[in-house]
Amino acid sequence: FPAPGATAPGLTAPASMDAFWMPFTANRQFRRSPRLLAAAEGMYYRDVEGRPILDGTAGLWCCNAGHARPRIVQAIARQAATMDFAPHFQMGSPLPFELAGRLKELAPRPLDHVFFTNSGSESVDTALKIAIAWHRARGEGQRAKLIGREKAYHGVGFGGISVGGLPNNRKWFGPGLPGVDHMRHTLDIARNAFSRGLPPHGVELAEDLERLVQLHDPSTIAAVIVEPISGSAGVILPPPGYLQRLREICDNYGILLVFDEVITGFGRVGAPFAAQRFGVTPDMMTVAKGLTSGCVPMGAVFVSDRVHEAFMQGPEGAIDLFHGYTYSGHPLACAAALATLDTYAEEGLLTRALELEDYWADGLHALRGSSPHIIDIRNYGLIGAIELAPQDGAPGARGYQVLEQAFRKGLLVRTTGDTIALSPPLIVERRHIDDMFSMLGEVLATL
Ligand code: PLP
Repeated sequence: FPAPGATAPGLTAPASMDAFWMPFTANRQFRRSPRLLAAAEGMYYRDVEGRPILDGTAGLWCCNAGHARPRIVQAIARQAATMDFAPHFQMGSPLPFELAGRLKELAPRPLDHVFFTNSGSESVDTALKIAIAWHRARGEGQRAKLIGREKAYHGVGFGGISVGGLPNNRKWFGPGLPGVDHMRHTLDIARNAFSRGLPPHGVELAEDLERLVQLHDPSTIAAVIVEPISGSAGVILPPPGYLQRLREICDNYGILLVFDEVITGFGRVGAPFAAQRFGVTPDMMTVAKGLTSGCVPMGAVFVSDRVHEAFMQGPEGAIDLFHGYTYSGHPLACAAALATLDTYAEEGLLTRALELEDYWADGLHALRGSSPHIIDIRNYGLIGAIELAPQDGAPGARGYQVLEQAFRKGLLVRTTGDTIALSPPLIVERRHIDDMFSMLGEVLATL
């Protein structure tokens, strides 16, 4: 951390807060009572007053290696001084090739090809475009429909909000993409409340895909996209066998299956990717966040050999995919990602969630008695969620109260409505877990 009293840009409260329109924020309320983070190291932030804040959310599900890790910091600094930017349209530089090779080794076979983006939203839009283009490249251009799921979050591009299923993220922005439908979600508190790990009930909800396939006719559907575990909607877990059944239905009808692993990727559930922990391999996988441990914006789409191969059939001199971003494979992001992967490997972070899962679940579920308003607790890997009953006439008020009070106490949590979500950096120790749940228990008791 910077020495006490140090001054540098960003360490003190800004003179004015008028101009920055903050994302997904109640801006006027925030300015009246700001929560300003200024520095970060290991498991802790410090706010502009110098108070330590224990990071219960890895930033925003992204800083999986913890904060200010020396290897990553040095790699970014070195790369900025060596080469700041390189174009990757009909031109190349070494690092994205090296990084894609390393990522391929981590991913399940046959996800052997990597397309770089700058965010989860861009990864989702990229995957959806590749899915539609793939069918067209194979002579099935009529397969352009996409199936998402209720309560899904796939970022904020027009593709992502169209397949996404969170009403607030959709209703302000027009009709979205045509030809999109949604399966039912798998949150079923009535049957599964307080179950540890995966919810026992609900595998039959996978049959909703079969219903949609019959409704639209399989020959019109390009892809199905799901988060193996949804995070932003408040942590929704798949019943055992559910993802396997989606895979089977997609295979039966020639539909591509895309896993959005933006929050589950890079060790969150005790394996490099949730696909591996669940034993289900999609045709494409979108990632971001943990790819660089949140240090530099970067996303990626893993693409299976079979899908990639169809784009390699045209004349060698023809561009195979008319898609890409100025910053696809940005050198700083690649340097950060390579150093992040080294850090994950050296410290065993991609499987650490498995070792801590029971301890984490014990502490989390022990919070059940701390407030009568708790209606469910969910956990998997190093993910936790506590669901509160909404206050009469004020949904989200209890969740916000927890966010605010936890911050004042020295704990960063994430809330969506009345669901509190936890996803600490994977370097978390048992003593941090104890501190986290002790602070949270005190806050919940005041509700
Ligand atoms: N997909 C999933 C599953 C996510 O959880 C998120 C972000 O939380 C996104 C996509 C969007 O990522 P980004 O905010 O980097 O665009």
